[in-house]
Amino acid sequence: MSTINVELGPDSYDIVIRQNCLLDASKELNLSRKVLVVTDDNVPTSYVKTLASQCKEAHVFTFKSGENSKNLETVQEALIVMLNASFTRKDCVVAIGGGICGDLAGFVASSYMRGIDFYNIPTTVLSQVDSSIGGKTGVNLCSVKNIVGAFKQPKKVLIDTKLLETLPERQISNGLAEALKMATTFDKELFDLFLNGNPKEELEKIIEKSILCKKAVVQEDVKEMGLRKVLNFGHTIGHGLESTALDGSLFHGECVALGMLAMSSPSVREKLVLCYKKLNLPLKMAFDQKAVCEAIGHDKKGSGNKITAVFVKEIGSFEFVDMTVAELGNLLDIIRA
Ligand code: NAD
Repeated sequence: MSTINVELGPDSYDIVIRQNCLLDASKELNLSRKVLVVTDDNVPTSYVKTLASQCKEAHVFTFKSGENSKNLETVQEALIVMLNASFTRKDCVVAIGGGICGDLAGFVASSYMRGIDFYNIPTTVLSQVDSSIGGKTGVNLCSVKNIVGAFKQPKKVLIDTKLLETLPERQISNGLAEALKMATTFDKELFDLFLNGNPKEELEKIIEKSILCKKAVVQEDVKEMGLRKVLNFGHTIGHGLESTALDGSLFHGECVALGMLAMSSPSVREKLVLCYKKLNLPLKMAFDQKAVCEAIGHDKKGSGNKITAVFVKEIGSFEFVDMTVAELGNLLDIIRA
């Protein structure tokens, strides 16, 4: 059990990591008010009921699981539930689900009456190691990933690793890909755990170490003006791949994993491949080069004709490189099946 404080002045918040903390969520969160509980239809209903039963007045908003729901229509549906239930600025939103749920619910909380309290209870490895921390919220628009959104810091994040017991193996690996991203760029010791240990048996340790990496980065650069761009390692190409596969055939972490292979030196790539084999992460995929390049061109991390991407020459380090879409496109050969 541990509590990690993200220090952001008036926007500081705690991340509580404790098995079974969902069971007494009301001790950690102020649920004595109207609460919009946001979840998707694939999150076990028992988790949602456990949370809702602790709220003074719960309004459960459930959307269809998957990236195709991460859009403004779903945001609007959630906002209408709040409007019809006369939510005020003193009420709150709680996300209970994976990264899609957290990103969407956080954006809903940021926009209702110009912002009300938001709590996050992430239930996937990906959301526990990465997306629930840092305050980035938002949705996709016209197939462009996360192009509409807001920075909205949660009031608190509850990480109950017990909830991962119902998560399918593939989803666990998907989330570990984001932890491996943090390890590759920042933490050689964490990387060694992936390379030489059994990551799936050390989930708690990996979650805590990854959170500490992310906390250090977001504290230094809340709004992604500089250092925080390192968290996009693998994402420029990854988002390009993901945008062409919004049908859910590839998960977010899997796309990022492929993107990381393309953006690494041969020696780093060799080590990553060993880790991916252990985790059953993809090493190659078939894709439409033109569509992926178009999607990369839309990526919001671009400035002018060049896109700032992250390249790793040695484990535990990174560099920023400004590249054209054509240059990034050439790297796609490394991961094309
Ligand atoms: P997800 O939210 O779709 O969750 C994966 C699936 O697992 C869903 O079907 C969900 O219903 C199910 N699920 C969730 N918890 C479960 C549990 N405990 N047991 C069984 N099933 C469960 O996907 P994800 O991988 O968690 O998140 C991906 C999203 O996160 C992407 O949209 C990505 O853009 C976003 N993301 C955001 C940030 C950020 O900083 N905001 C960072 C990384 C990724």
